[in-house]
Amino acid sequence: MAGHGGLVGSALVRRLEKGGYTDLLLTDRQDLDLADGSAVRAWLGRHRPEVILLAAARVGGILANSRYPADFIAENLAIELNVIRMGHALGVRSLLFMGSSCVYPRLAPQPIKEEHLLTGSLEPTNEPYAIAKIAGIKLCQAFNRQHGTRYLSVMPTNLYGPGDDFDLETSHVVPALLRKFHEAKAEGRDEVVVWGSGRPRREFLHVDDLADACVVLMEADTVPWEIVNVGYGEDVNIAELAQLIGEVVGYKGRIVQDENLPDGTPQKLLDVTRMRQLGWQPRTSLRAGIEQTYRDYVLQRSSRSEQPAARC
Ligand code: GDP
Repeated sequence: MAGHGGLVGSALVRRLEKGGYTDLLLTDRQDLDLADGSAVRAWLGRHRPEVILLAAARVGGILANSRYPADFIAENLAIELNVIRMGHALGVRSLLFMGSSCVYPRLAPQPIKEEHLLTGSLEPTNEPYAIAKIAGIKLCQAFNRQHGTRYLSVMPTNLYGPGDDFDLETSHVVPALLRKFHEAKAEGRDEVVVWGSGRPRREFLHVDDLADACVVLMEADTVPWEIVNVGYGEDVNIAELAQLIGEVVGYKGRIVQDENLPDGTPQKLLDVTRMRQLGWQPRTSLRAGIEQTYRDYVLQRSSRSEQPAARC
């Protein structure tokens, strides 16, 4: 597995270990630079995996994507090309590639079906990242067509969970708001600023549910598709999410929307018919998942004694 230190990778390890897998080969950026083709070839040649779970990626929230577009496109393209091509060259027949719901057109009909891929323009705030992920999906499809491999692209919706990135500059909305509300409560502030209009709608899936779906896909005898959405099945708007996170944290002050900050895509809700057909559905409600993520965040914070966040 590539990327086992990240949000998705660590959830996959938890799930696989629980499922009795004892022969996991793990690598993260400390021991292998996936952007370095010869290092990837050497590593794969040494370890000879049967299946690859490609969860390594350069990821980030709306601000990080617009600040570092070159990193987002270049690193992701390099990782995908190296791992998929070298994996194939060394005989790997089965691979799970982690895509993203932001690969779909900005104004795709909702809920978004897999066949909506490449039917319209992308959301500009994360276009470089999305283009790299689309290239990864197309690589998988091309290898399947030309070489008969079983390279499957999983499209997770917006994810959250323990081990997420809580840095306000780079994080996604759930960890960002957990941190903002937690610090506002701790410091007795009576206002928390939430970016954008509060109207965009997003679907949030607990990362352990994604990991479970990946294992179902990996273990299935046949999956009759090359792309499979994995979502929660319902969305909320950002104002509702902020309200919920405020309640979970126990913050009593005001919530203010800053309309000068970007909204991004107006709505992202995946059509999850394919996973349902495989008999899978998520187990973690949004409230229970956020409560659990918050408990984990507080624990991590107290064991790390973090710097206070920059206000924004
Ligand atoms: P996106 O789904 O790719 O747009 O990723 P994000 O998770 O970064 O943002 C989702 C939505 O939450 C966007 O409309 C943001 O403007 C909004 N949002 C509100 N407050 C925050 C915040 O503090 N951090 C982030 N990242 N997004 C926020």
